[in-house]
Amino acid sequence: DPSVWMKQGLLLLSRNTALRDLLEKAPVSRSVVTRFVAGDSTERAVEVVSELVASGRLATIDFLGEDTLDPAQATYTRDAYLTLLSALSDGGLTHGGQVEVSLKLSALGQALGADGEKMALDHAREICQAAANADTTVTLDMEDHTTTDSTLGILRELRQDWPWVGAVLQSYLYRTEQDCRDLAHEGSRVRLCKGTYKEPESVAYQDKAEVDKSFVRCLKVLMAGDGYPMVASHDPRLVEIAGVLAAANGRAPGSYEYQMLLGIRPDEQKRLAAQAERMRVYVPYGDEWYGYLMRRMAERPANLLFFLRSLATR
Ligand code: FAD
Repeated sequence: DPSVWMKQGLLLLSRNTALRDLLEKAPVSRSVVTRFVAGDSTERAVEVVSELVASGRLATIDFLGEDTLDPAQATYTRDAYLTLLSALSDGGLTHGGQVEVSLKLSALGQALGADGEKMALDHAREICQAAANADTTVTLDMEDHTTTDSTLGILRELRQDWPWVGAVLQSYLYRTEQDCRDLAHEGSRVRLCKGTYKEPESVAYQDKAEVDKSFVRCLKVLMAGDGYPMVASHDPRLVEIAGVLAAANGRAPGSYEYQMLLGIRPDEQKRLAAQAERMRVYVPYGDEWYGYLMRRMAERPANLLFFLRSLATR
């Protein structure tokens, strides 16, 4: 199947640093990127989420960056979040968790050798404290499977002080149904998504239909549990099933939420928000957009054509 090969190829390219350096330096690509990325400044991110909030949607903001192997870069990322949170709070956007932040621990130094986990934890603590001061929450994005245990370990540490720190679980991993059971307790915020990294058969379903079935099993556990499920998918079937399961478990709107990415199915986002559902948009910003954008391309070849066309017609 050529589309599978293309997807695998794009996921490999998403970690290609030479191509990343080339494209991120090319100003031409900036305009292409803005459909999926809010821009490169804090001000722009704040503007974009203000518009979302005005349209009845919630947001979670991700300062782009990942796989950091430089302690100074990890500190820079932490500081970007601190600046962002104070700007959001000054703008009156964080109250009650209306706009929160999403973090990639690998951008905070998680992979930096023996001390990496501690560095990421320390940075994440500072960000959580700033979020608490702003009356909002933090969600830890989930990265490739080699980081799952480490990320869930850091989540447990953070939740001792801030029980509202959110987790992300990926239905393509075999382990995830069990992780859902472990995390479906009172006060536990869990974002369920399909998963977006290139994973081996030893740990993850390769077949899309299997990933979807696993998503539904995981949703059943989360919706029946006592936590707060966050359903992160653009898949119309899964969005519908989530609504049915929520109703079957006697959950009122507000006791769970839907989440989608900036620029993807915006009409569906507005439709759900208009039904008094909580609809949160994931808003990435910053100049390290390469890895993020390549994963979006791998998910949908139409996005790739759009990207290539814009490059060709600069
Ligand atoms: P897909 O299988 O990609 O698509 C299913 C169907 O959805 C398509 O057939 C189509 O009908 C519809 N659809 C999808 N894209 C479009 C489009 N552009 N336009 C119109 N229709 C479309 N992954 C992680 O690994 N870790 C994370 O921490 C993480 N966080 C996320 C947070 C949020 C809020 C979201 C929405 C996703 C996150 N992801 C994360 C990515 C996720 O794992 C998937 O890779 C991504 O969401 C694509 O899967 P999908 O469920 O949307 O379905």
